[in-house]
Amino acid sequence: MGSSQSALNFGAGPAKLPREVLSEVQNELLSFKDSGMSLMEMSHRSKEYSKINNDAQNAIRQLLNVPDNYKILFMQGGGTGAFAAVAMNLMNRTGSADYAVTGTWSGKAAKEAAKYGKVNLVFPKADKPGSIPAESTWTLNSNASYLYYCDNETVDGVEFHYIPNSKDVPIVCDMSSSIMTKHVDVSKFGCIIGGAQKNIGPAGVTVVIIREDLLGNPMQICPSVFDFTHINKENSVHNTPATFSVYVMEKVLQWIKKNGGVAAMEKQSAEKSKLLYDAMIQSNNFFSCPIDEDVRSRINIPFRVGGPQGNEELEAKFLEEAEKLKMYQLKGHRSVGGIRASLYNAVTSEDVTSLVKFMEEFKKRYG
Ligand SMILES: *Cc1c(COP(=O)(O)O)cnc(C)c1O
Repeated sequence: MGSSQSALNFGAGPAKLPREVLSEVQNELLSFKDSGMSLMEMSHRSKEYSKINNDAQNAIRQLLNVPDNYKILFMQGGGTGAFAAVAMNLMNRTGSADYAVTGTWSGKAAKEAAKYGKVNLVFPKADKPGSIPAESTWTLNSNASYLYYCDNETVDGVEFHYIPNSKDVPIVCDMSSSIMTKHVDVSKFGCIIGGAQKNIGPAGVTVVIIREDLLGNPMQICPSVFDFTHINKENSVHNTPATFSVYVMEKVLQWIKKNGGVAAMEKQSAEKSKLLYDAMIQSNNFFSCPIDEDVRSRINIPFRVGGPQGNEELEAKFLEEAEKLKMYQLKGHRSVGGIRASLYNAVTSEDVTSLVKFMEEFKKRYG
């Protein structure tokens, strides 16, 4: 990856960031707004950082139409830290929670939550992810503190195209890999969590959007850095936040606003994923996606090369030739193999068109 020319980055996370944002960061790196120092070197209690903190919150509120009775928090510990935080902050009410496990990340979240209370799986764990059981077959508990699901399973390529009906039980959703890629009605959720490093920034900051009335009941054992109530009270500067990550995230959020907001991202996401899925259809299963059609992700698209079972030799060749064309991070997650293309907001339609061209050309030679 030596050259400074822009690569085609299909990585699952950390992932591609908009070039304009990176240039802006570069310009400000040695002297933030004529201060003669980097933002990295400034106090998290400075007026400069306070503005970034507030601007980032406001941008999220505006982009996702977050209602006034929801709080927006910036935390550390990644998506994985939020798995524990969700349980420690929200499970106290009844001591149990419902989990819809549709893949790797919701599976990990359920396992983490089980350390803090009773976890009910609303449907049996599938041997092989790739589908979501019909909602009518789910076993929901009216006594659950919340219903948890992962909107988009980044590893497996499974996405919810609807919001489950939980009756009166608050819904907690992991949107790490789909946040800002589609319109969501935030008022349907009790809590939304998302690591920034997929769609909205660098690693190091996790966004939590939480309905106000769910605050105030953390478990006694909850560390203060994971305590939503406390972090909210301190406006996300309880201790030193990942200031640089929040700073870059704020710029990405402004970039999304400038480029048409979430509606434009959603439109582009539909176009980009259609390009790739259409190419698979055209290839007569030479490129083949193992996921049920109705739950296929628009964001993380796994596929096999050489037929539905995949041919590992061809897949290795595919990755090798892709890299020669500066197409990087296409290797499938180590747990599922094959290829995975991640089409986050910063990945352009032109990037995907280049990938599709390469796929067609590859099939001509090896198909
Ligand atoms: C990446 C990811 C996570 C884990 O994030 P970390 O910051 O690595 O802990 C959790 N959930 C989803 C959906 C993800 O894509």
